[in-house]
Formats: sequence, C-alpha cells, structure tokens
Amino acid sequence: MNGFERISQTLAGQATDRVPVMLHNFMFAARDAGMTMQEFRSDPKNMAKAFIDASRKYGLDGILTDMDTALEAHALGAKIHSPDDLPAKVIVPAANDLDEVIELADAEKLKTNERIQIYLDAIRLIHQETAGELFLRGNADQGTFSVAAAVYGLTNLMIDLTDAKKEEKIFRLLERCYEVHLAFHLMVKDAGADMTSFGDSMASPDLISPKMYRKFAAPFQKRLASDLAKRGIQTVCHICGKTDLILKEIAENHFAGVEIDYKTNLSAVAETMKNVSVVFGIIDPSGVFCRGRQADVVSATQTVLQQFPDGGLVIGAGCALPAETPADNIRAFVQTVRESEKLKTKS
Ligand SMILES: [Zn+2]
Repeated sequence: MNGFERISQTLAGQATDRVPVMLHNFMFAARDAGMTMQEFRSDPKNMAKAFIDASRKYGLDGILTDMDTALEAHALGAKIHSPDDLPAKVIVPAANDLDEVIELADAEKLKTNERIQIYLDAIRLIHQETAGELFLRGNADQGTFSVAAAVYGLTNLMIDLTDAKKEEKIFRLLERCYEVHLAFHLMVKDAGADMTSFGDSMASPDLISPKMYRKFAAPFQKRLASDLAKRGIQTVCHICGKTDLILKEIAENHFAGVEIDYKTNLSAVAETMKNVSVVFGIIDPSGVFCRGRQADVVSATQTVLQQFPDGGLVIGAGCALPAETPADNIRAFVQTVRESEKLKTKS
C-alpha cells in the first residue's frame, strides 16, 4: 500500500496497513532543500521539488502544499511583507472602509495574481510527478472569516462585529469573501490536488467567542463543506489554538477532515470526530517536533496513536512545523508510526 492509497482509504473510512503520516512542513521542506522562503515561493519548480523531496526522503504518505497565509488577501489588494527567509504576511488591509472592501473582494482577481499562479503551477508539477503515489492535499489559503479579517483588518472587523448597524454589510463582506474562497478551492483542485484544505484561524476561540463563531464563521464553513462535496471535493478545515469550546460545531460542518491544534483536548477530539471527520494532527509542532528531544516526539506520537485505535487519523503536526525542526525528530516520528503498527499486529 502506498501513501496515496493509505490516505485515500482513510478518508473513505476503509482499513489501511498503518496510520498515514503527513506533515504541515512547507517551511521545513524549503530549509531542508537548502532554499530560502523567497527561493521557494518565487519558482514553482523549486516549491514542487522541496515538497516532493521532503516527502520521499522522510517517508511521508502525502504532501500538504502551503506557501503562506496571504494568497487570497494579497490578490484582493492587501499589502504584504515578504522577508527573504520567512513566509509572507499581510501588513496592511486592502481598505479600511467597509463599502470599499466589499467592492474589492472579487473572486476574479485570483486569476491574475502572480503569487497564486506560481502556487498553482507548483501543485500541477507535484501532481504530474507524484499522482497515485503520494496523496496531494492542496491548501486553499484562508477561510471566509479569516480572509475578511485580512482584507478589512482584524481590528476593523472586531469592532464592527459588535455593532448591530453594521451587521448587514459585514454579511455582505463575508458573502463576497466566501465566493473568493470557494473559487480558490476549485482552482487548487483543478491544478491537481487530491483534496483541498484551508485555515480559518481567525475564527478560533482564541480570538472570537463561540457565539460569534456560530454566527459569523460556522455558516460559511458548513456551506463550503457542502458546496465542495456537491462537486466531489473533500476538504480539511484547520483551526489553530484551543478549540474545545467549538469542537461540536466544527463536527457539525461535516468536513472530510479536520486539523486540530495540540492545545485542544485530545480525547475530546477523538470522541467528537469519530465517524464524522478524519482527524489530521495533533502533535505540537513547536514544543515537541521542533524543540523536543526524539524521546518526546516518540512519546507524543504514541499518545496520539493510542487515541485512534480504529483509524480515522492522518497523523502529523497540528499546525505548521518551524523551518528549524530537527530532521532526526521527523525520522523518529515516522519510525514510531511504522513500529507501532508492527507491535499491534504482533499482539
Ligand atoms: Zn494553525
């Protein structure tokens, strides 16, 4: 059984020879290939090579493509800062005026943005070289609520969310951002991804209340899962931070997969998502993968595996691995997953 089959069958709820491994490793992959982030993100051939090499070298079952969290927002007019060896990020919103930002949030703009074209070309190249061998999860940047926060500015959005008079326009902005975001999923899928995914970290209880999540973020997440499912596209929803308070709501969105951060209670995740969504994660990327010893990685990996005795897991880091993650920790992680399966078959 190869990586593509392992992850496809896990998503289909079928048995596999072992739990599949996939990592949120774009920064690590670039560093491991000897590229700066600028070299990685400016040439699709570089990006594809870094991802493919890292997957084959460390024995991962799939590739999760990612470039930064500013693709959609930049295409819509937000200003970004792109340090040579760090991912780009939004530094100035597209506009501070709500009417103006509603106007700017036009899905057509994705088609002409150069950064997006480079990213999609990288997905095409990866697909050409690894289709049917490695499972390709193409990240489609940021979810509706998070795109709205990036193009309008987090502070502007937070203030307006509590102003009943602004509510109608806020929903118009979210509708426009939804169209942008859905369009990006379709572009990523068309480029050759086996499934898509997205982050909606501004919708985390670390930033907004569960009540606000239910009102302003969850309806668009649910619609996305359903609009994509109608087109036969599976997606993974990633939300950072401690998400215990909204786990049930996330489950109700019926995503093919959910990627949860290590700050959330592990057994609650396993219990809530069982037979609903495949869980991606949930090992601490910084404290364990990057700064931990190999023994810490082994123990964290075993702890996660034990929570999913019946499958429904693609094990990895719950969020992006730092570039300086030690390669030996990645090897220890993959080795632990392989060995734990051997132990299971023996017992
Ligand atoms: Zn995250």
